[in-house]
Amino acid sequence: MKIDVITAFPDLVLGTLRDSILKRAQEKGLVEICMINLRQYGIGKHRQIDDYPYGGGAGMVFMPEPIYNAIKTCKQNRKYDEIVYFSPDGELLTQKIANDFSLMSNVLLLCGHYKGIDERIRIHCVTREISIGDYVLSGGELPAAVWIDAVVRLLPGVLSDETSALFDSFQDELVAPPVYTRPANFKGWKVPEVLTSGNQSKIDEWQMKQSLDRTRKRRPDIFEKRNR
Ligand code: SAH
Repeated sequence: MKIDVITAFPDLVLGTLRDSILKRAQEKGLVEICMINLRQYGIGKHRQIDDYPYGGGAGMVFMPEPIYNAIKTCKQNRKYDEIVYFSPDGELLTQKIANDFSLMSNVLLLCGHYKGIDERIRIHCVTREISIGDYVLSGGELPAAVWIDAVVRLLPGVLSDETSALFDSFQDELVAPPVYTRPANFKGWKVPEVLTSGNQSKIDEWQMKQSLDRTRKRRPDIFEKRNR
């Protein structure tokens, strides 16, 4: 998979790609992630990328031209399945949406900042708008990092146990069962006996029941959907 990211603050995204699972995924060549610094496409001597909003009000808005030119250059090199803009009023990122994105080959991510980007880019250039939750952040960089993590860990070969993403929360409309590791007795707090029994079918049954109970209690909204 190839992911290109247009941002005025590449380091905010890059910091999240330098360790752990995302680092390894890149080293293994399972994903190629490239930052495009919007500033490079800035206008004039000062490489201006933002300006005051028409109609007044606080905060700056990203001008259309630098973004348009950045997208145009990117499109000359690749054919994108989606051009995603991160926005608090976008479609809420869910596991299902992450699953769908993980099947794509080329995705371009666009990060806003300050007050956002000129609406004309959203209308004419962007194909998908994604929100990571009902709260407002300073920029689209953390949302882009969240999107990349959620999507890349689903690519075949990224997780050491290839099937393990299938058992995460929200796959099959269930949250994950509790997990334990050694020691079996820590300060008198014991691991449920069934997990140390060695009886795999009993363990599977226990985990499924825990998942169901937890989903019903913690996420009745998801539990509803499951039973519909
Ligand atoms: N004035 C805008 C918010 C701008 S926040 C509004 O009220 O809708 C600045 C940038 O941060 C946005 O352009 C977007 O790219 C990003 N952003 C902020 N919160 C986000 C969220 N919850 N999900 C996705 N992107 C978000």
